[in-house]
Amino acid sequence: MKNKIIVVTLLAAVVSAPALAQTPATPKNVEVVIDGVAGFQDTPMQPDGKWHVHDPARPQPPVVTPGTFSENAKPPADAIVLFDGKDVSEWTDKQGNPAPWKVEDGVMVSAKSDIVSKKKFGDLQLHLEFREPVPGKGDGQGRGNSGIFFMGQYEIQVLDCYGNKTYADGGTGGLYGQHPALANACRPPGEWETYDIIFTAPRFGVDGAVESPAYVTVTLNGVVVQNHQAYRGATNWKSPGKYTPHGPTGPIALQYHNNSVSFRNIWVRPVPLVNEP
Ligand code: MG
Repeated sequence: MKNKIIVVTLLAAVVSAPALAQTPATPKNVEVVIDGVAGFQDTPMQPDGKWHVHDPARPQPPVVTPGTFSENAKPPADAIVLFDGKDVSEWTDKQGNPAPWKVEDGVMVSAKSDIVSKKKFGDLQLHLEFREPVPGKGDGQGRGNSGIFFMGQYEIQVLDCYGNKTYADGGTGGLYGQHPALANACRPPGEWETYDIIFTAPRFGVDGAVESPAYVTVTLNGVVVQNHQAYRGATNWKSPGKYTPHGPTGPIALQYHNNSVSFRNIWVRPVPLVNEP
């Protein structure tokens, strides 16, 4: 019986191998597919005790077709503009070299590596528009993957989830690996999509303990998909999240995940919390 179990496990690993091309699992994790969703059920449990990290059985966010709203609108007067269609001068790669993303027709296209904002922020309001490539290629996490990382480490996922299933905690508008979006409000690839996000930085005590976690409220295409949701720490693949104490500000990072995702009209307004205890 024991041998049989081993054989079945190995077979599962072999069968799922092609789907691992984008994000290879370490040998100890075996990808499983449930209802067309590829994920893992041998990763750490979420603190809710119900789901594994990237659990394919975790319910999918309900699909909500967005309405209409203003796009590529003029930023408010006090906004700090991080991309206005001209150049990537507000960004570098992670080593501080010029950002390798291309600018074409007023649009910034992801390429080669992640990019990081030169300016650092704590609590903020962010506006950003993105467009997934046409035709959509790849499945699950391999389809139009990018991401917005606040303070360089707290991700809100950017993915082409229009008709593309992935594990719920890795979908568009999700806190990657932690909390799914409340709704799947994705537009089809080739159409511009709009994020308006309020991020509150975590606070650490002098001993490094978390005094208050990071919070995020996310509107995607006019639909609220996170409502003051707490992060459980930095977001990472196959990790339930862990805090490492850091300073009060950090850069915004945009992910390059082997897909060419377009961006435009990126601006920030610092919105510091007041009346803190
Ligand atoms: Mg991502």
